[in-house]
Amino acid sequence: MNIILFGPPGAGKGTQADILQKQHSLCKLSTGDMLRAAVTSGSPLGAQVKDIMAKGQLVPDSIMIDLIRGRIQQPDCHPGFILDGFPRTVAQAEALDAMLTSEKKKLDYVIELQVDDAELVRRIAGRFSCAKCGAGYHDQSKQPRQPGVCDACGSREFTRREDDKAETVSKRLEAYHRQTAPLLPYYRTQGILKSVDGMADIDAVTRQIDQVLRVRTKVAENS
Ligand code: ADP
Ligand code: ADP
Ligand code: ZN
Repeated sequence: MNIILFGPPGAGKGTQADILQKQHSLCKLSTGDMLRAAVTSGSPLGAQVKDIMAKGQLVPDSIMIDLIRGRIQQPDCHPGFILDGFPRTVAQAEALDAMLTSEKKKLDYVIELQVDDAELVRRIAGRFSCAKCGAGYHDQSKQPRQPGVCDACGSREFTRREDDKAETVSKRLEAYHRQTAPLLPYYRTQGILKSVDGMADIDAVTRQIDQVLRVRTKVAENS
């Protein structure tokens, strides 16, 4: 099963992708995480994208497509993949369709997390993550169970994203509405768009997504 988690910055895509990855044994392709890892490692790719990301701008399509294709071909992605943060423009969506066709794969669902801008700003302002394993947290809505200790790996070091500061966030939200939201009609026309209420709490959003995926599983069983 191949799905896209779709929505504006801060909608909860990464949070839900982590949960789905574990529950359904799918591989997770979070393009923001992949690019940040490249920047941290100081690789040639990282050097190319560092300044672009710090400004909240989009990395060129050709770089993105090569990055995704390379991952999709890996064995851990054979059972299926979850895309988070890609595609972000109609051009990227078209390039993705062409690439998947050449790999003999297709998308099953595009799941849109609907969240209003005021809540996105609140979510991004409170976002932090484990410096060691990347597990995501929030100052108000998702604190580690034991204060100051990562639930997933026990590390005591946390970080906040460089591009989560207020000036960059408004730019990223503007870019979402201008460049990325036009993908909704693109996927609606293909009949694979499913929208869920992303304003609900984390568990309730997961249940809504499961509902969408369960329908798919039932259809597959009956056919
Ligand atoms: P995205 O990957 O779409 O940018 P994240 O998954 O990083 O979004 O979530 C943004 C922030 O909001 C994180 O701090 C996360 O812990 C928190 N968060 C995610 N989902 C919810 C939710 N349903 N309700 C409240 N906070 C949430
Ligand atoms: P968020 O989770 O807040 O939506 P991401 O972590 O997905 O943000 O992305 C962070 C940054 O990485 C983006 O602002 C952009 O610079 C770059 N990036 C991520 N995905 C893409 C993409 N599909 N195309 C171009 N740039 C991207
Ligand atoms: Zn951790």
